[in-house]
Amino acid sequence: MSKPLPSYSSSTADVPLLGETIGANLERTVARYGDREALVDCATSRRWTYNELDIAVDQVALGLLAMGVTKGDRVGIWSPNCAEWMFVQYATAKIGAVLVNVNPAYRAHELTFVVNQSGMRVLVSAVEHKGSDYRAMVESVRGDCPALEQVVHIGEQSWADLVEAGGRADHHRLDEVMATLSFDDPINIQYTSGTTGFPKGATLSHHNILNNGYFVTEVLGFTVEDRVCLPVPFYHCFGMVMGNLGATSHGACVVIPSPSFDPGLTLKAVQEERCTALYGVPTMFIAELSHPDFAAFDTSTLRTGIMAGSPCPVEVMKRVVDEMHMAEVTIAYGMTETSPVSTMTRREDDLDRRTSTVGTVMPHVEVKIVDPATGLEVPRGTAGELCTRGYSVMLGYWDEPAKTAESIDAAGWMHTGDLAVMDAAGYVNISGRIKDMVIRGGENIYPREIEEFLYSHPDIADVQVVGVPDVRYGEELMAWVVMKAGREALTAEAVRAFCADQLAHYKVPRYVHVVDGFPMTVTGKVRKVEMRAQAVEILGLQDAAAVRHA
Ligand code: AMP
Repeated sequence: MSKPLPSYSSSTADVPLLGETIGANLERTVARYGDREALVDCATSRRWTYNELDIAVDQVALGLLAMGVTKGDRVGIWSPNCAEWMFVQYATAKIGAVLVNVNPAYRAHELTFVVNQSGMRVLVSAVEHKGSDYRAMVESVRGDCPALEQVVHIGEQSWADLVEAGGRADHHRLDEVMATLSFDDPINIQYTSGTTGFPKGATLSHHNILNNGYFVTEVLGFTVEDRVCLPVPFYHCFGMVMGNLGATSHGACVVIPSPSFDPGLTLKAVQEERCTALYGVPTMFIAELSHPDFAAFDTSTLRTGIMAGSPCPVEVMKRVVDEMHMAEVTIAYGMTETSPVSTMTRREDDLDRRTSTVGTVMPHVEVKIVDPATGLEVPRGTAGELCTRGYSVMLGYWDEPAKTAESIDAAGWMHTGDLAVMDAAGYVNISGRIKDMVIRGGENIYPREIEEFLYSHPDIADVQVVGVPDVRYGEELMAWVVMKAGREALTAEAVRAFCADQLAHYKVPRYVHVVDGFPMTVTGKVRKVEMRAQAVEILGLQDAAAVRHA
């Protein structure tokens, strides 16, 4: 019998990588497709052609230059999805400023950290959304953020001033600055939850994210006829790379259905804007399919789209194909640190592979699966840690060389912390995680961060946080709590009240379980695998635990 192939796969392509900056790529699209629609912001009923988008982006770019922003400066954006988010994304890229994405769910404590860690000089912020008072939160942290010089609020006078200053400026300045940029320059910092409790800033270049966006929509077969509905957040690469850069690199149109996810508004936007593509994390598709008026919406214009971000249930994929008319829907797998996509199903793959695997390696990228103990490739069919290498691997974690070295080895492989199996034909299935991370509705959570926060409760002696299965969100957080001697057992409500206003809402544990101790190994390590198994019994989550994923 012949030896099984090792779990290594690489992919070339007929289409070469793009060797240009994001700004240069946008200008090429504008030159070719200037009259075509580029962007629709449904919440405000505004729309832009590529020529109009070009003007809006250049005004913001020149306005930032007029404010004194120079190449390499960090400019933050803290806002739900809106057209201005996209203007700032392309404007910063055009002047070589590093855009720092700030999660709109962050609260003051988390904001302060990312502003200071990135050394942000300018922050462009929303004013208010769904009860989040961004202005008040920005004001409350400014005293703790000495490097933050200027704040611009979208929709207010400060924004109008920025645009107006840009409109008055000499356009040649922008051409001069663009001529000094390299496509390998850092252009974007995206914070991912950190294992130590602090987020790490994945630093990405033009080359990283422009190519990833471009090849993701190459796989989807995008043309200027495509209109992609993006309920996924722009602060994450799913929105700003796979969505925005994927669309603009092909002259396709971006449709923003609502500032933050809303299943009804997403379906309405698909219908009214005649979208051909729809993206979402599994939780979003589940919410759309179970919307009470789902059947009344016309989704027949949909052709393709992407489900990604967390394990994708096979049954949900099948319903997306059958009931949302997305015959060519794909699954993508990746992580922020890899721009993000490393593997993807192809439209021509058979239905079984398209619903039960995360596909094959992306063009120009390598994937291998290794035994974490030895670092050697495992045979096909055996589980191990997925590693990936190529143009897509980030430059590093911002100002964290030691953490970068822990993730990217000397040969350039990014170690993902995800467990995967590669079959004989190169299809990958994500079978679990080595890293202690929970993904709730597409939001990554490191239990350590929540544990450290809950330790600060005066009645809690010890705490462990695990993810437990959930049909709607994929996973939910459960805190196992040991009380200090003589203290009354905390209720779930009391724990949640303690977290409110301090942590982003998705990090607040849904379940609280008071115990005398945790399951331990002989060496004294907490057995989270055992805790998760027990939790399924304790909470009666057998149905959610039985869901099959790609
Ligand atoms: P992020 O950096 O927020 O994009 O999260 C990356 C992590 O999400 C990966 O390391 C995986 O654990 C998980 N992930 C992303 N896409 C998928 C997918 N299609 N299936 C399973 N897990 C996924």
